[in-house]
Amino acid sequence: MDLLIKNATIITMDEDNTIINNGYVLIKDNIIKEVSKGDYKGELLNLKVIKGEGFCVMPGIINCHTHSAMTLLRGYGEGLPLMRWLSEKIWPVEAKLKEKHIEMGTMLACIEMLRSGTTAFNDMYFMQREVKKVAVDTGMRAVLGLPIIGENWEKQIEYSLELLNEIRKENRENINMMFAPHAPYTLNFEALKSISEVAKRENKGIHIHIAETKDELNTIKDKYNMTPCELLEKSGVLDVNVLGAHCVHLSESDMEIIKGKKVNPVYNPQSNMKLASGIAPVAKLLELGVNVCLGTDGASSNNNLNMFEEMETGALLQKLKYEDATKLSAYNVMKMATVNGAKALGFEKLGEIKEGFKADMIMLNLNKPNMIPNYDICSNIAFSANGSEVEYVIINGKIIMEKGAFLNIDEEKVLFECNKLCKEFI
Ligand SMILES: [Zn+2]
Repeated sequence: MDLLIKNATIITMDEDNTIINNGYVLIKDNIIKEVSKGDYKGELLNLKVIKGEGFCVMPGIINCHTHSAMTLLRGYGEGLPLMRWLSEKIWPVEAKLKEKHIEMGTMLACIEMLRSGTTAFNDMYFMQREVKKVAVDTGMRAVLGLPIIGENWEKQIEYSLELLNEIRKENRENINMMFAPHAPYTLNFEALKSISEVAKRENKGIHIHIAETKDELNTIKDKYNMTPCELLEKSGVLDVNVLGAHCVHLSESDMEIIKGKKVNPVYNPQSNMKLASGIAPVAKLLELGVNVCLGTDGASSNNNLNMFEEMETGALLQKLKYEDATKLSAYNVMKMATVNGAKALGFEKLGEIKEGFKADMIMLNLNKPNMIPNYDICSNIAFSANGSEVEYVIINGKIIMEKGAFLNIDEEKVLFECNKLCKEFI
């Protein structure tokens, strides 16, 4: 059934930064048909009407870098630096993960993301068939990525190609994939080169961690006498659409490479803070015209998947880094979480509330103590909201959450099962 949201504040995130104070959005099938101020004058028959008084409508939030099933490892192995945390805690447990863990962990992640307004995510984790199933079941938009890591990379490229074939056969509007070489320091040069060639041949993007820590910088310098960006440029990885998670430690010339190659860096401020990795030069990259987007990273290094927290922390951290309160405004960080994310993931006509665009949007209840008064709606969203204001989620024209309740997800059951599974597991 077609949808009409009426009498709402609409933050369109379009190129003119249009905000409509009392307007409507008409959705037909999966597409936004009309966005306008005032009242809808057309026929109401066969329309489901959502009353938008006291709500604002904005594009669904896009989490551009996560490892969703890591929700099951939330809070596990706290307080260690990145390399020790990975090698002593995370990798040994991950070796024991089975399909049921990935499915339940991703289910938990999707519920958490949807509750806090995220409608699309870019995943990098094992067993992406399970992730695909959960994305289809929950209605979320997802870009899948099977990690390619270590010595066994040739076999892992084949697994990615098998997944790609399935995705092509099923041809679902909400599901895409990228090749996901883990990082420049966990693959050799030949592997990076081969993956870039396969990605080019298949016309798919690459999702990779880049320059996350100083350790990585030193490892690549010792091995190649290059920076991670230089290595990735040389191996051909940057010749396709790249989502570069982190990009914390960049030289001036690295930033020029990123700009020239149109890499999309993904800023993960809370994960970078928690693992003491550093602060990405996001304000600088944005000034260079780079398409920086936003992500949470896995729940185990964050420790949640809440993009409202990420917007707030991300903007505050840039102000602190440059000792300049004008850096990374509320509007610009919202843009990173919507428009820039859609562009980076390669979904066309997504990330804005605009005629002809895909109908992915959320509605926030503005009648909450932390949202009053409302001098500047974007400031309230980026700095005052915490995600609990999200009461409606619409993806590809379908209502996923209405009045704070899921229509097709048994949330209680998933929470119970996940708790049970983790008790047996760790
Ligand atoms: Zn990551």
